[in-house]
Amino acid sequence: MLQHVKVAIIGAGFAGLGMAIQLTRHGVDDFLIIERGAEVGGTWRDNTYPGAACDIRSDLYSFSFAPRADWKFRYGRQPEILDYLRSTADQFGIRSRIQFHTELLEAAWDDAASLWRLNTSTGEFTASVLVSGAGPLIDPVWPRIPGLEHFAGERFHSSRWRHDIDLAGLRVAVIGTGASAIQFVPELQKQVGELTVFQRTPTWIVPRGDAPTTERRVRLFRRFPVLQRASRAWVFRSAEARFAGFRTPSIGSLMQRFALRYLRSQVADPVLRAKLTPRYRIGCKRILVSSNFYRAMTRSNVELVTDPIDSVEGRFVLTADGTRREFDVLIGGTGFNATEPAVARLVRGVGGTTLAEAWSGHMEALHGTTVAGFPNLFLLVGPNSALGHNSIVYIIEAQIGYVLKALEAMRASGAASVVPTAESQKRYNRKVQADLENSVWVSGGCSSYYLDASGRNTTLWPHRAAQFRRSVRRFDSSEYHLEQARLPTAG
Ligand SMILES: Cc1cc2nc3c(=O)[nH]c(=O)nc-3n(C[C@H](O)[C@H](O)[C@H](O)COP(=O)(O)OP(=O)(O)OC[C@H]3O[C@@H](n4cnc5c(N)ncnc54)[C@H](O)[C@@H]3O)c2cc1C
Repeated sequence: MLQHVKVAIIGAGFAGLGMAIQLTRHGVDDFLIIERGAEVGGTWRDNTYPGAACDIRSDLYSFSFAPRADWKFRYGRQPEILDYLRSTADQFGIRSRIQFHTELLEAAWDDAASLWRLNTSTGEFTASVLVSGAGPLIDPVWPRIPGLEHFAGERFHSSRWRHDIDLAGLRVAVIGTGASAIQFVPELQKQVGELTVFQRTPTWIVPRGDAPTTERRVRLFRRFPVLQRASRAWVFRSAEARFAGFRTPSIGSLMQRFALRYLRSQVADPVLRAKLTPRYRIGCKRILVSSNFYRAMTRSNVELVTDPIDSVEGRFVLTADGTRREFDVLIGGTGFNATEPAVARLVRGVGGTTLAEAWSGHMEALHGTTVAGFPNLFLLVGPNSALGHNSIVYIIEAQIGYVLKALEAMRASGAASVVPTAESQKRYNRKVQADLENSVWVSGGCSSYYLDASGRNTTLWPHRAAQFRRSVRRFDSSEYHLEQARLPTAG
C-alpha cells in the first residue's frame, strides 16, 4: 500500500515552509513536503550571486509569526535570508517533515478515490490535498540567441552562480539589466578585468536607502516586541503607499522625476545616461532599488552595449551593428519564466488535463489559489497574486490562511474534495483583467515578465496587498463544489 498523507506540499521556500508551519500550528500533522533541492530556502538557496539581497525591507520580508530583531541591514542579504529560513524551519520542527532530493514528476487527480497520486524521483505516494509552493521565479530563462548554447568560454545563469570560477581579471559579458543583474554587476565590476553589460531595456532604479541595524534597535525590539510589530506595520504601509504611483499618473510622474534626478546625480556622461534612461512609464516593469549600479556602470572597466545581440560564435558575441567582442565568461542575468511555470506541466486534474493545457497560455485561478477542474489543489503565489510594490511573504501568508479555511470548510461539511466552479473562476478573472486594463503594467509601454506571450498580465494582483488579504479573508463555499467521498481515501 502506498504511503498516504493528508497534505502534500511541493517546495520548501517561503511558501512551502509557511504552509507547513501553519498546518502544524493548526493541529494538522499529517503532511509531507517534497523538495528537489538539498536544503530549504528556494529562491534564497538558489540565488547565491554576489550582492543578492531582497528589495523589500526584512522587517516585512519575513513571516509575521517569526520576526527577527537582528537583521544586519534593513534589506537582508541572501545568506542571512537563507539562514532565517533554515532556522525558522528548525524552530517549528519542520525539517524532519521534508523529503529532500525529491522532485515531483507528476501529480494526477484520482477522481474515484478523491486523492492526488504523486509520482516523484524517489517514489510514489498519495495525498488528499496538494499545495504547490513550487515558486514563481524558479525556472531560469535564456534569450534565444543563435550560437549561445555553444559559447566556447564558461556560461552560467545568475541563479546558478559558478563560485568555482575565479573571475578576477577576466573578460566577462552580462546579458540583461534586470533585478538580479543590477545587484551583481557592481560586485563583478570590482573583480573582473573587463565587464560588458548587454542591455535590451533600461529599468527605472531608485536608491536603496539601506543601513546597518543598530544595537539599540535590536535591544529595543527584543525587549518590546510591540515596537517591532509597529515597525513592520509602518514598513508595510509605506510600501502600500507606493502603490498610488502605479494607479495615479500624477504620482507616477513624481516618482519618475525622482528616479530621473537620481540617475542624473549618479551618471555625468550624457551618452551613458541616455542609454540608461527608460522610455516607458515607471512601474511598468518592477521598480528596482540599487545605490551602486549606476556608479558601477560609470567605471572605466565597464561598457554598456545597447545594440541587440545577433549571435554568439565561439567566444565572440556579435551585435547588430557588426561589432564582435570576445569574452572568457558569459553570465545570464535574464530572469525567470513567471507566466508558464514548469509545475503546471506536471499537475493533471479531472480527465487527465494538465494545468498547462487547462490554461492554454493564460494562467488563471480563483483568488490566485484554486483552479476549476483541479480539486484539492492550492497554488501559493498562483496566477495574479504577485506584487510589484510590496512583500510577497504577506501574500503567501494570506493564501495560507485561505487554504486553512478551505480545509476547515471541508472538515465541517465532510467533503472529500473542493474545487472552484468554472463560473466563479471566470467571473473572478474577468474582474481581475478589467482592473488591470489601462494599468501601468499593461499600458505603460514596456514588455515585462508580468505579461504572458499574448501580452496579458497573468501574474500581478491589480490592487494593494491589503485588498488581496481582504479578498481571501473568508472561504465562500458558494464559489466551490464540495463533494463527498465516493471511495475510502486510501492509495
Ligand atoms: C533573486 C531574487 C530576489 C527576489 N527578491 C524579492 C524581494 O525582495 N521581495 C519579494 O517580495 N520577492 C522577491 N523575489 C521573489 C521570490 O521568488 C519570492 O519572494 C519568494 O522567495 C517565493 O517563495 P516560494 O516559496 O513561493 O518559491 P521559491 O522560493 O522559489 O521556492 C520554491 C521551491 O520549490 C521547489 N520546487 C520547484 N519545483 C519542484 C518540483 N517539481 N519538485 C520538488 N520541488 C520543487 C524548488 O526547489 C524551491 O525550493 C525574489 C526572487 C528572486 C529570484
